[in-house]
Amino acid sequence: MSFRLDPVTGPGMSNAATTEEGKKANSSTHECGCHCGYIKFSVTLSPPLPEYEVVNCNCSACIRFGYLLIYPEAADVKWHNDGRSRCASYEFNTKAKSQLFCPKCGASLGIDFRDVFKPQKYGISARTIYGVNLDELNLKKFDGINMVKPTGDLAGHYWDEEKGEMK
Ligand SMILES: [Zn+2]
Repeated sequence: MSFRLDPVTGPGMSNAATTEEGKKANSSTHECGCHCGYIKFSVTLSPPLPEYEVVNCNCSACIRFGYLLIYPEAADVKWHNDGRSRCASYEFNTKAKSQLFCPKCGASLGIDFRDVFKPQKYGISARTIYGVNLDELNLKKFDGINMVKPTGDLAGHYWDEEKGEMK
């Protein structure tokens, strides 16, 4: 099976049940968070995590931020203590989405894709799931460095040291 980022529905939906009831029966819910506990949230995934294709992408952002991404719908991400507004964020290139971090401990959390995918989604790093066993994840390689425009390694191109501004 080939895998690609679908601009309309987004990835991770190929095996998802379509009805609400089917969705509940075929899902798993996980408590997630940063390292220090300042940001906590839960994620409900369909299909459940053991069957979910977790995206292991080779683009400059995913490599730097250590993402192994799952793509829950925004309604299935429950931020505790208004955790979303606690996040530090970073935008690059088209600035269409925010990369999310804990401002206290620096943990890399994921990507706010709500303005990108319909229905609205987050890209959450499976590394934020409490108790996650990385060896048990169903990792799917994605060639983002060549598939997502602009292609190539974008790391190191956005901070102008002399002007002290983003580029
Ligand atoms: Zn933290």
